Amino acid sequence: MSQPAEQNSGADSRAVDPNLLSLLRCPCQEHSKLQQTAAGLACQHCDRVFPVVDGIPVILPEPEPNVE
Ligand SMILES: [Zn+2]
Repeated sequence: MSQPAEQNSGADSRAVDPNLLSLLRCPCQEHSKLQQTAAGLACQHCDRVFPVVDGIPVILPEPEPNVE
């Protein structure tokens, strides 16, 4: 008897749950929706790409460069 080993290893560690993705917004001023890409989650407004680690998006706000 042999059972096939079910392993979802490396299926899509960079893929984010679509339900979660729809809730995510970029921390930039536009708070744009993020788009799933091969490299991670991309903002269509500021072109930032946020990495995804084991299905968890790593979204860190960026310090405002121009503070007057
Ligand atoms: Zn953005």
